[in-house]
Amino acid sequence: MLKEAIYHRPGNNYAYAYDEKTLHIRLRTKKGDADQVTLIYGDPYDWTEEGWQTSSSLMTLSGTDEWFDYYHIEIQPPFRRLRYGFKISNGDETVVYTEKGFYEEAPLDDTAYYFCFPFLNAIDVFRAPCWVKDTVWYQIFPERFANGDQSNDPEDAVPWGSEEPKPDNFFGGDFQGVIDHIDHLVKLGISGIYFTPIFKAKSNHKYDTIDYLEIDPQFGDKETFKKLVQVCHENGIKVMLDAVFNHSGYYFEPFQDVLKNEDNSRYKNWFHLREFPIVTEPRPNYDTFAFEKTMPKLNTENPEVLEYLLKVASYWIKEFDIDGWRLDVANEVDHSFWRAFRKVVKNAKPEAYILGEIWHDSIKWLQGDQFDAVMNYPFTNAALDFVAKETIDAKGFSEKMTAVMQMYPENVNEVAFNLLGSHDTKRVLNFCDGNKDKMKLLFLLMLSFKGTPCIYYGDEIGMAGEIDPGCRECMEWDEEKQDLDLFHHIQTLLTLRKEHRVLANEGSLSFISAKGRTLVYERSSYEESIMIVLNAGDESVENAYVIAEGYELLFGNDASGVLPPYGFSMYRKK
Ligand code: CA
Repeated sequence: MLKEAIYHRPGNNYAYAYDEKTLHIRLRTKKGDADQVTLIYGDPYDWTEEGWQTSSSLMTLSGTDEWFDYYHIEIQPPFRRLRYGFKISNGDETVVYTEKGFYEEAPLDDTAYYFCFPFLNAIDVFRAPCWVKDTVWYQIFPERFANGDQSNDPEDAVPWGSEEPKPDNFFGGDFQGVIDHIDHLVKLGISGIYFTPIFKAKSNHKYDTIDYLEIDPQFGDKETFKKLVQVCHENGIKVMLDAVFNHSGYYFEPFQDVLKNEDNSRYKNWFHLREFPIVTEPRPNYDTFAFEKTMPKLNTENPEVLEYLLKVASYWIKEFDIDGWRLDVANEVDHSFWRAFRKVVKNAKPEAYILGEIWHDSIKWLQGDQFDAVMNYPFTNAALDFVAKETIDAKGFSEKMTAVMQMYPENVNEVAFNLLGSHDTKRVLNFCDGNKDKMKLLFLLMLSFKGTPCIYYGDEIGMAGEIDPGCRECMEWDEEKQDLDLFHHIQTLLTLRKEHRVLANEGSLSFISAKGRTLVYERSSYEESIMIVLNAGDESVENAYVIAEGYELLFGNDASGVLPPYGFSMYRKK
């Protein structure tokens, strides 16, 4: 047994409160090293004449990645306190692993050897809004979704779809356009819209905010926005806005004041200015997003900036009833700011969703005191590598996703924001080199996976486009030019997700088999179990998975026969 590979720590993803009564404990071992792992545990104060009173329970192998096995157990300690250690066996060898190291037998003369979960305090439990895990998002880039009101078009706007999207052209998309096309979204079956920024800004993407308390006039006014939120709510659709709090735009009034008055500006502490005079070339001498001179980083440690941005956070919730904030470049803003932000947002609306844009390990933000979720780019990459680019096989995908899911607590995984593409990437169809069958598999994978999925506008009707600005084309509203077959595929998956809550995170996810390009996984709960089989290869597969008696085909091909290239099956246990 390789003891060096055995790992646990009493916190983060290894020991956490799943809910107010339940603890989850995990252990990592070298892949294939252990036959059996048992949790030895007890209440630290439960002593009798015979000594410390402990129980033993077998842990289950919950996943395997490239190097490690992960064991999992759920415990409900009656007095909400726990001391615990692990008994790890592999045939001839047994070791007991505690906080103080390895022993041949469990030391029972003192609880001090053991790992400690001191007390399960309800207020510390990570808790995302309960509606999120059943939500399917739809991302709208407002300038390009629909033009419902020509009177608010920017002066230089060109007719809808009349030219290719460019970094600086305008087509006149607006809120009225979204209201006019709400039926399309209802028909598709989505239940949340994520809008990229809508506040007053100069560019077509609006990430360069001028005024956080004003709607950009090209999208409409506050009344239209209020109406839009109402229309969404009437149709069971939540609304999430993009908060660009890491940096402001160049034309943000306080930054203009700083440019004008330099050292004498009353706003000089709103930014991170390194010296005067302020210069923008060759690199700005103030902190920015990347080295982008038009995006000066806000000093969120300054109480005035904090107060201003927190006012923004609550204003749009209280006045317009929005349901969530997506936080741009969230990992470059200080934790103290996000803790204050969470308090203000949850005060304004306890069930509001806070989603951070973070591309890397995000555990520091997901402890229950800052974000409810982060954008799951590791899912995006693994799914595209497996199905679209074919750079990894089914086993590679299952190992990568296991590693990601083991990085976070289960209650965090259930609300992870899964996406295949966005305004920042090329379109899914382009990743698939135009292969629509691959694209169908990718949507099957995302819409039956753990997490809360997001569809980028236009993907559902087969729109193509290279990376920004290509992926920001005007939405195609001519039904003749829409891919309705793809639309129906995605629509069916959304219906299944609604009818079978096990697909919408009421259940666990386990990889059953991964051979070559064929992946089998199961979503299951006490009530229901759904098996998904997919062939992400260009050759047909015989007997991809032998379906036991008592399973019925919900959607797709029969996997017990020949699964065609890029074929898939979804089975439900009767
Ligand atoms: Ca317009």
